Parts: sequence; structure tokens; C-alpha cells
Amino acid sequence: MSTTSAPAACAAVTPTATLGASAVRRGTFIKQFRSPGKDSGIVCFDFWELVVAAGCPFRCSYCFLQATPSYVFGHYPLSGAVFSNWKDMLWEVEQWLTAPSPRMLVVGELQDGLAFDGVYRSLAGMALTGMLIPLFARQKRHRLLFLTKSTAIRHALRISPTQQVVFSWSLNAEEAARRWEIGAPPPARRLDAARRMASEGWPIRFRLDPIIPFQGWREGYGQIADEISALSPEMVTLGCLRASATLQAHAHRNGRDGSLFDMLTAKDPGGFKKRLPRGNQIEMLQFVHQHLDHRRFAVALCKEHRTIWDAVGMQFRGCHCLIGPSADGQAHRLQVEAGILRAAP
Ligand code: SF4
Repeated sequence: MSTTSAPAACAAVTPTATLGASAVRRGTFIKQFRSPGKDSGIVCFDFWELVVAAGCPFRCSYCFLQATPSYVFGHYPLSGAVFSNWKDMLWEVEQWLTAPSPRMLVVGELQDGLAFDGVYRSLAGMALTGMLIPLFARQKRHRLLFLTKSTAIRHALRISPTQQVVFSWSLNAEEAARRWEIGAPPPARRLDAARRMASEGWPIRFRLDPIIPFQGWREGYGQIADEISALSPEMVTLGCLRASATLQAHAHRNGRDGSLFDMLTAKDPGGFKKRLPRGNQIEMLQFVHQHLDHRRFAVALCKEHRTIWDAVGMQFRGCHCLIGPSADGQAHRLQVEAGILRAAP
């Protein structure tokens, strides 16, 4: 498999030191992700995203935000800003919570989910976790998920745990993180944060994504898979390196190491993204899947084609990352309604 150029230096940043900017959110704070469509074969439910901030203080080479119009055209700073009209965000969340069907609201798809927690305390007098978690803790239908590479759990630790809120850490092999997740805390520290939250009674998950075929990937991903298994998360989501057509150019423009995208010499069957050669993808996903203790927790693939699920030997039972591993029935019903799954004969 191909490898990439020499690693760039990794300098950890303190998010609160770099996020003084604030901006006005022009669109809605809650958006529904639109999957590429059922005919594409890509498996992804149309999940809900809460946009709590713009940009991110970390500088991952593969970050797709770099290619999104808000940052390409400079509407918001890529390095991060919180929203001064945050009260509108809370109002939207309260309206969203009145929906009758169970749903998951994700904080961290369009920015890091926890990196801005302390900045909100300076801006609004209360950390983001302190504003959002009580809204979900007082009901039993919907869940909130913070997806993050941050270790900023100080404010969350002061709140009583609830099963309605999940903390999910985006992880990678140490070597991959050192080379392509510049500024983010090393995976060992992310695992420490997860361990601490789990010990307090919070549900935790992990996302091992993007898996990258650097030289020595077996050792790197075998080690992180063992460490993940030791923490018994409720779910682990896997994904391989992928990119839109323009991401490499944007990474170069932002002074990030775009050479890793040279590995993407294939496309998924639906033409959705540039991908690793299919054989490499399947080999790496099988390797990690076999290392994870998948009899004890759910393992899923993120935005992968149905044929990859089959080739890896993973059974697709619906995107239950929507709700939770204990809610297969609900997830299945919702996805039949959405046309993603066929109803049982
Ligand atoms: S942590 Fe996430 S949002 Fe931040 S730069 Fe990395 S990929 Fe982008």
C-alpha cells in the first residue's frame, strides 16, 4: 500500500486560547444531513446536526470543512468562532425536542463538538454542555451526541450523567494522528477523557475514522482497536480515508499536508467520493473489525457503500447510530419509512 510524505510537527493547541472570535449564525442551527440518496448505495441515514460553532481550532489535513462554501468563501473563520446569537440555538433545540419520533442530534459533524465548550462559558456565562445537556436529560425520547477530538470534559464532569447524552471520541492510530491531526490532543489523551467520562456513568462511543494506510498501519490500528475494546463503548463507527474532488486542493491552500489524498486512486461505485482502492479498504476494515471485540458492542461503517459492508463481512441492520444499539426495532422502522431498508417480507 502507498505511504505518504514525511510527518509534519504536531503542536497541541489550547482551544480556548485560539477561539476568541464570535460570529452571527445566519442560517438555522439545526440541519438535517442529506445522504447521497438511496440509489447511490451509500449507507447513511439523514441524521440531524446541531451547528454550535463555525470551524475548528484543530488542523486535520483531511478535514472536509476546508472544502465547504462557508470557509472557502470566508463567511466564517476556519480556525473557529462561536455564535453570539446562541439563544436562538437553544430555542431551536427546544422545538426539535418536541418531535414525536426518537432522534439523535449530533454536535460535532460541522465543527469539533467539545472544543468550544469553555468558550461558551466566557461568552454566555455557561459552558455549551451546561446549556444543552439539561434539555435532553429531562426527557426520554431523543439523544444528544458530542463528537470530538477534544479533551475538554471539565465542565461536563460537573453535570450528573444521563443516558440521553453520549460522548463520542474521534480516534486514530497514534502515528496517523501525529501526521494528519495537527493540533488535536493525541489519541491516548482522548482515550483518557473517554475513560474518565465512562467511569462517571456517561455513555461513550468511538469513531475510528479515517483509517489511513500509512506504513505500519497494522500495528497502529491493532493497538488502538485493543484500547477501544478495553473501554466497552456502546458503539464504534469505522471509516476509511475518503475525499470530495476538491479537498486536496483546499488542504494545500490551507498549508496542510494534502499529499495523503494521493492514496485515493479509486471512487466508490456511486461516484460519491474519491476512495482508497477497494482491496485496501476491505483489508483494513476487516483487520480493524476483527481486532475489535464486536461481540460486546455494535460496530458500524460510516457512509460506506452497501457492497463494502458485505465484503467486510459486517451485517447491515440499519443505521442505529441514529438512536442507539438497544433500539434496533425503532431504527429499522424509521429506515423502512425513509426507504433505506426494505420491510421484512
Ligand atoms: S477535529 Fe474534526 S472539525 Fe476539527 S479539523 Fe479535525 S476533522 Fe476538522
